[in-house]
Amino acid sequence: MTDIKNLSLHELEAFLAGMGKEKYRAAQVFKWIYQKDVEDFDEMTDLSKEFRSRLKECAVISSLTPEKVETSRDGTKKFLFTLDDGEAVESVLIPDEKRMTLCISSQVGCPLDCGFCLTGTGGYERNLTTAEIINQITAVKTSLQPEEKITNIVFMGMGEPLLNLENVVRAIDIMIGEKGMLLPKRKVTLSTAGLVPQIEELGSRCTVNLAVSLNATTNDIRSRIMPINEKYPIEVLLDACKNYPLPNRGRITFEYVMIKGLNDSLEDARRLISLLRGIPSKVNLIPFNEFEGSTFQKPDRCDVDAFHKYLHDNHLVAITRSSKGDDISAACGQLRGKLKGRNIA
Ligand code: SAH
Repeated sequence: MTDIKNLSLHELEAFLAGMGKEKYRAAQVFKWIYQKDVEDFDEMTDLSKEFRSRLKECAVISSLTPEKVETSRDGTKKFLFTLDDGEAVESVLIPDEKRMTLCISSQVGCPLDCGFCLTGTGGYERNLTTAEIINQITAVKTSLQPEEKITNIVFMGMGEPLLNLENVVRAIDIMIGEKGMLLPKRKVTLSTAGLVPQIEELGSRCTVNLAVSLNATTNDIRSRIMPINEKYPIEVLLDACKNYPLPNRGRITFEYVMIKGLNDSLEDARRLISLLRGIPSKVNLIPFNEFEGSTFQKPDRCDVDAFHKYLHDNHLVAITRSSKGDDISAACGQLRGKLKGRNIA
């Protein structure tokens, strides 16, 4: 059985061609699934009965149902999904005044082992399929009130999306495609710890916003907290960022997790400005979210404010991300799914 949600539009065209069907049939099926949220071939009323029953013989339309939904006092919601093989991932819905941002996962666990990230401490299990990525969105969408709408998608949940490039690119195509979910590409952001060849490949295959978890201003510190920096040091990473083709007039978001006494000084702020010179950028300052077992501490508010002000005074666009959903462990770096059979922290 083929899960239609694992196929791009082109792949579905080829699949249906194998059944002797015209190309435009794929667009019809896509629209039923992604624009009308239909999960049953029988509801696709512009397809013949005969075609629908043949589809049912060889294909399925998968879905995910949240096993648990927790709501934070600030309105953030965390969804826990159990997958077919018993693994679990989380997605986080973050409503604010104008936006409704859904933060989705791309892997079960993560192999990158960044020292400040709880997801990484649990190890890595596997990549998500395209269907599992897309179904996080569909499931959350289905749970919304009629007047509510997801406006932004960020790949900032569990996992390193660029280590799952094929499935992630296919999922992005479904999100932004005109026969797909119809999300504007400026509203989709992929966040990476900085895998240089894959940043280049992503740029050549689709244009979405890029966020890069920079988190330090010297290679020494960055390598200490992000082992991937040994492979792709800051200057190589920033070169790839300079060449990334952003959606029109876009900027690259640099995420900067501030950790007390490690990377939160004005000296760091000064270095950050000189590193980002010449790159259309904005900086997201994320005060470190503490978790049990971590040796790092969150920075003092006054240091965060001083850092922010220094960037601002030097004309670098910066926001300090308020820690959404921390009471339900839904904040940045706090997602860990259910980590089957493992005992951590
Ligand atoms: N692997 C990708 C996607 C995960 S995004 C990436 O690294 O970008 C998760 C974001 O949360 C990253 O910017 C990361 O730096 C940040 N983060 C991870 N752990 C955190 C913590 N404990 N406190 C604050 N931010 C954290």
